[in-house]
Amino acid sequence: MNISEIPARVADIVYPRRCPVCDDAVDSIGRYICRSCEAAFEAVSEPYCLKCGKPLLDDSEKLCRGCEGGRHTFDRGRAAFKYDTYLKESIYRYKYGGRREYADYYVFRMTDILGSFIKSLSPDALIPIPLHKSRLKERGYNQAELIAQGLGKRLEIPVKCDVLIRSSKTEVQKSLNAAERQNNLKKALKISSDVVKLKNVVLIDDIYTTGSTMDAAASCLKEAGVLRVFFAVLGVADKY
Ligand SMILES: [Zn+2]
Ligand SMILES: [Zn+2]
Repeated sequence: MNISEIPARVADIVYPRRCPVCDDAVDSIGRYICRSCEAAFEAVSEPYCLKCGKPLLDDSEKLCRGCEGGRHTFDRGRAAFKYDTYLKESIYRYKYGGRREYADYYVFRMTDILGSFIKSLSPDALIPIPLHKSRLKERGYNQAELIAQGLGKRLEIPVKCDVLIRSSKTEVQKSLNAAERQNNLKKALKISSDVVKLKNVVLIDDIYTTGSTMDAAASCLKEAGVLRVFFAVLGVADKY
């Protein structure tokens, strides 16, 4: 054990960390997950969409239904896991139940599954999808930022949390169509610092569903001069 890990280990004894799968106290010190829960999350394996990373059923396909026709603004992205019931419940507790420690396990696995993909993109920075400040206040942390910080540390890539901000709250507006929602989301995002030095960036978020958040963020960044915008997420839903 490294001496710098001692405070974390002491914290593990006083407040045992919770397992990201079953939410019980993790049985041994220094672990992020119960041994019996290790296989619960299902990694995305080939074939997956070459644009957004959604799992594909058919080996002969290159793109998923949502990516055909080239409607996305982002360049490419991948997810570590399928957004199944286990991951869905885990992310719910992570975001709304104060289980910020789950980020350690998420980052550990994302590094393993997506680390070489992210490195191959030669990113100048990782950029978390921002939360509006009132949400941040409610929740106490931005779930995407914790993941980005962890990945940045492990992969030795700078993390920029001040580049993209969410200036207005975007409520779930079911009455709007996809294009209208996309437009609202884009208006809510702002570039708040100089991006001149950034050519390639990787957006980080917890879930990818239709890609509207990634597209909105990518178009803001590209309008500000970023050349290529990729993403890496923890989970990908098979909804379109
Ligand atoms: Zn468990
Ligand atoms: Zn796709």
